[in-house]
Parts: sequence; structure tokens; C-alpha cells
Amino acid sequence: MALIAKKIKGTEDILPRDSFKWQFLEKVLSDEARVYGFSEIRTPVFEQTALFQRGVGEGTDVVQKEMYTFETKGGESLTLRPEGTAGAARALLEHGLYNDGLPIKAHYFTTCYRYEKPQAGRQREFHQFGMEVYGASDPIADAELICAASSIFDRLQLPNIRLEINSIGCPECRKNYHAALKEYFSQFTDTLCSTCMSRLEKNPMRILDCKSPICKEIAEGAPKITDFLCEECDNHFKKVQEYLNAAEIEFTVNPSIVRGLDYYTNTVFEFISDSIGAQSTVCGGGRYNGLIEELGGSPLPSLGFAIGLERLLMVIEAEGLEIPAPEKDMLYIAALGDKAQVKAFELVREVRETGLKAQFDIVGRGLKAQMKYANKIGAKFSMVLGDNEIENGKAMLKNMTSGEQTEVSINDAHIFIENLLSADLASEMN
Ligand code: ATP
Ligand code: MG
Repeated sequence: MALIAKKIKGTEDILPRDSFKWQFLEKVLSDEARVYGFSEIRTPVFEQTALFQRGVGEGTDVVQKEMYTFETKGGESLTLRPEGTAGAARALLEHGLYNDGLPIKAHYFTTCYRYEKPQAGRQREFHQFGMEVYGASDPIADAELICAASSIFDRLQLPNIRLEINSIGCPECRKNYHAALKEYFSQFTDTLCSTCMSRLEKNPMRILDCKSPICKEIAEGAPKITDFLCEECDNHFKKVQEYLNAAEIEFTVNPSIVRGLDYYTNTVFEFISDSIGAQSTVCGGGRYNGLIEELGGSPLPSLGFAIGLERLLMVIEAEGLEIPAPEKDMLYIAALGDKAQVKAFELVREVRETGLKAQFDIVGRGLKAQMKYANKIGAKFSMVLGDNEIENGKAMLKNMTSGEQTEVSINDAHIFIENLLSADLASEMN
């Protein structure tokens, strides 16, 4: 085969045999969002580049090297969304959603695009589910949001995901902290990686998030942000912890969590799994009190998180949890001859109208091939229609598991469906 095109490096196809896993996840996640009072928001896959440069933060890896940015024929710079928050925040501002009464709670499912080195748990196109809360400054909102993420993992019965939290304070706390970090890391200018050397001036906190083992080791001895929090931020962080304790949500404070994006303030958190290798953060989130203002709106304290769906599926598979397989076809009708085929067509339509899955032969194969297909799709019942059956108005309904056959009338669709349903009921009771 000489294909004229192949899938792009770092992207994955989700095939029909696997899509039920995604649909299952989407159902669990949107159900959880619903009970927490969130409604779905969908925003475009591309946006003006400025949205991400401002929103995501110019000092971040995402903006500096991971964005898919291109110029349109009209000379405008556009970018494929690298994350979901900035687009949702833009939509909130553009449509004045904050006038609808606060807080606004929105969730999203998006594909994201980042030019990264593809590896297990890291793709160039990947999927995120996110929850965003706008217009809530109280620490109880942080706790509620973390609780929502936590209950998603509970709902999926994933006990081995741990929660780590931190506070990265407000811009005031960070001014002092940045100075202390610069002083500390300046001792290691010979050993820090080149990326971290450039971070040293612009955004030394990002060094704490470096994936290089050498930088990681150096970062271990760095001053801790929690020692630099102003009174207000310190209180906020303490309250969040109190509320989490009250909700019996286990967590550890990890002062080196800074998150990959620049817009965070105060609370940041990650849910981490040890069963999926190096890309172990399944969910990342936090508070971003400055983002809305940075995008041109009036200040609106907000917070949110995003779950990487590929990583979430990896955890589910690594933990050996079964995602319920799609329901089987109730009926496959094999038909031989024109009349039988038309009759099969009519009957499957009647069955489908009741909401049950039914199929018949649409490729004109012989009986043997049709039955093979019925087996392959795992039909619960099969039925063969030929000239005899059409003439007598009767056919044999075969239970594909037990082999048991029942004679059913095929002239009256209502009676046929009643027969089919009672055969199904009988097989379930056996
Ligand atoms: P990482 O440190 O792993 O690069 P990040 O800080 O860039 O993550 P966020 O921008 O906060 O991640 O995105 C939230 C979540 O999206 C991550 O926790 C992860 O589950 C998922 N994610 C991020 N980048 C990728 C990617 N390239 N491929 C697959 N999933 C990703
Ligand atoms: Mg990243």
C-alpha cells in the first residue's frame, strides 16, 4: 500500500474498537461535572496567538517552544490551543458571562496541541477535560474544586492517585521569592541546563519544574515558596487545607509544585499516579486570580484544573480496571434472496425503533459468511430468512450463546419483537 498520507507524529487515532473507552470517560466526567453544577463550554480549536501569549504566560515552555503558531493568508497570527483555560476565559469575557451571576462554573473537553517530544503520556495532540470556576475568591472554592477532581478519581475507583498541593502566593509574595531563588540558583550557573539558565532571569520559579535530573537535584535545596507567603496568602492556603481535611481528602503539601503555566496564583495542585511512568501528573490545576484581568477584563478571581485524558486512560489500564464493553447487538438477521433481504431490512428497523441494536446483511454475502459476521459482532440472537421463512411467515430465532432455537412469527413486527424480548429475558434468567 502506498498511502498518500500518514498520521502526524505525536497524534493518535481513536479507533472504533476503543472509542467506547473514551465515551465511558466522557460520561463519567460530565456526570461528575453536572452534579457539581458545571455546564459545558466549547470553544474554537484555534485562537489569536496573543490570547495564549498573554494568558498562558510568556515565560512558560508552552509559549516559548510548544505552540503551533501559523500565519493566515491575511497575515494574522493564529495558534492551535495548547490548553483549555485561556479560550474559556476569553469566551467568558467576550460574551459577558460574568453578568449571569457568579460564580460561573464551566467544564470542557478539548483537544490540545503542543510541540513536545512524543513519548508515553506525552503527545502533540492530546485531550483534556477541565473544570473552571470564575468569580470565587474564598478558599472554600479551592477546596470544592479539588474535591470535584478527587471525586472523579473516586468514581473511577482509582485509589492510587495522590494529591499534592502548594501555594505559589500572589505577585507580591513572589517578588521576594524570585529574588531568593535567583540568589540560590546563581551559585549553580555552571551546572544548570541551558533552558534553566534562561529561566534564571525571567522566571526562576520555572527551574523548580525542570525535568532534567541535575536541575531537579539542585532545586531540592532551593528556598521554599511557603516560607515567603504574605499573611493573606498564608491564611488562604491554611484555610484550603482545613477544608480539605474537613472533606476527608488526603493530600501532601509539596512546595516544589509550580505548574507549567504562568497564570496561577495561590493554590496549585496535582493529582499524580505512580503506575504510568515518568509522565505521572494526571491532573493539574489551581487558582488564577490574575488571568481574567490579563486578558482585558475586570479582575475576577478564578480557578480550575485540567485532566489529561490519555494519561487517565493509562492509569485505568495500568490499574487493571475494566471499562464496561459496549452492549452487544441484540439481533443479526441473515437473509438469502431479495424478498428475505427486504423483510430483514423491515424487521431490523422495527427492532431499532425500540432502541435495541440490530443488523442485517448489507453486502450480499452467502449464508456462511453472514453467520461468521454475526459471531464476530457478538450478536445475542440470529435469525436466517430465506424463501421458506417468507412463505410460512415463521423463522427460527437462535440464541448465539446456548444455540437454543425458538420459532417466531415474522409477519407481525409487534409480535416478532415481543418474541425477541421474551427470548432475551429467558436467556438472561438461565
Ligand atoms: P507536564 O509537566 O507533564 O508537561 P503540564 O504542566 O504541561 O504537564 P498542564 O498544562 O497543566 O500540564 O496540563 C494538564 C494536564 O494535561 C497534565 O497534567 C497532563 O495530564 C496533560 N498533558 C499535558 N501535556 C500533555 C501532553 N503533551 N500529552 C498528553 N497529556 C498532556
Ligand atoms: Mg508540559
